[in-house]
Amino acid sequence: MGRIHRLDPVVANQIAAGEVVERPASIVKELLENSFDANAGQCRVVLDEGGLARISVKDDGIGMGPEDLMLATERHTTSKLTRLDDLGHSPWLGFRGEALAAIASVSHLTLASRESGAAVGYALTVEFGRIGDLAPRAMSEGTQVEVTRLFDTVPARQKALKSPAAELAACQQVVQQLALCRPDVGITLWHHDRRLLETGGTGDRLAAIMAIFGRDLAEQVIAIDHTFSRGLRIQGYVAPAHVHRANRAGQGLYLNRRWITNWTLRSAIEEAFKPELPDRRYPYFWLWLTLDPDTVDPNAHPTKAEVRLLGERQVAALCHRAVQDALAEAAKPFALNAPA
Ligand code: ADP
Ligand code: MG
Repeated sequence: MGRIHRLDPVVANQIAAGEVVERPASIVKELLENSFDANAGQCRVVLDEGGLARISVKDDGIGMGPEDLMLATERHTTSKLTRLDDLGHSPWLGFRGEALAAIASVSHLTLASRESGAAVGYALTVEFGRIGDLAPRAMSEGTQVEVTRLFDTVPARQKALKSPAAELAACQQVVQQLALCRPDVGITLWHHDRRLLETGGTGDRLAAIMAIFGRDLAEQVIAIDHTFSRGLRIQGYVAPAHVHRANRAGQGLYLNRRWITNWTLRSAIEEAFKPELPDRRYPYFWLWLTLDPDTVDPNAHPTKAEVRLLGERQVAALCHRAVQDALAEAAKPFALNAPA
């Protein structure tokens, strides 16, 4: 007998899961993005104990039939990407077919779905990677994914988790960002029986900002809309520089309908507020960028958060200028805008 053996598929999945599933917030992100990909108009997220005890995401999207339910939780199964060169142009957020398999390998996952037009739904439970039986379930059209006993069999992961309050805060961040990324989807977030967020899903970005950050802030923001060459458009809102907070929860960058983090863009934008910003305070800004898909590489990072752009510095400089101009325009003496 040699020394090399093939890993049990369940164990292999649990190892791979580390890349995708770090904490409840990463699961909420994957599940909501799956709902967006399924054309959902409404998504309801329910968390218990900051997501540590239960995460449930329900949508009214296209759903899955029973065969797809069985396949969905296996690795590298996807209805989305079929060729690697599709990536930059893919209208979908998911592409690797990893998320459900990863989540199912480290939790109890119930996947219930009723395909649009189907008379009945089906539910499948996977317990730490072991697939159970498929059973009919009475439900409305769409999909509901429920995750419990997260990391029960992976003590090392469980130790890395924070308090329910900290995990809830991280989940809330993700839900807020995705709600702003897709204001055309109505999103509600519940923690136990407390509603923490509800957006109307009208597509109005300012309405989503107001739903999340309140009327006071929404009434102060300054609109931005610039179109540049090579298909670059920068739209969004910033708050005046004297309005700031102790963390970056009031910032968002969205690129071609994806929520992204990009350090170069973020620092260029923050720079525009700097002259007026006290130490360790952070400005409010939300920018929705439209860019030629050929210049975007969403596959740069396993969790797809840090997206790379061709000509990143140029895009950053344009964002900086757009924000600077907006702040300067808003700072002009009020009398100039007042009627004669
Ligand atoms: P990916 O999103 O990369 O395809 P996932 O593991 O997240 O991989 O999902 C696997 C497949 O399960 C998806 O391609 C999709 O066909 C199906 N699926 C997952 N979530 C939903 C949902 N909420 N509604 C409909 N289909 C879904
Ligand atoms: Mg996915």
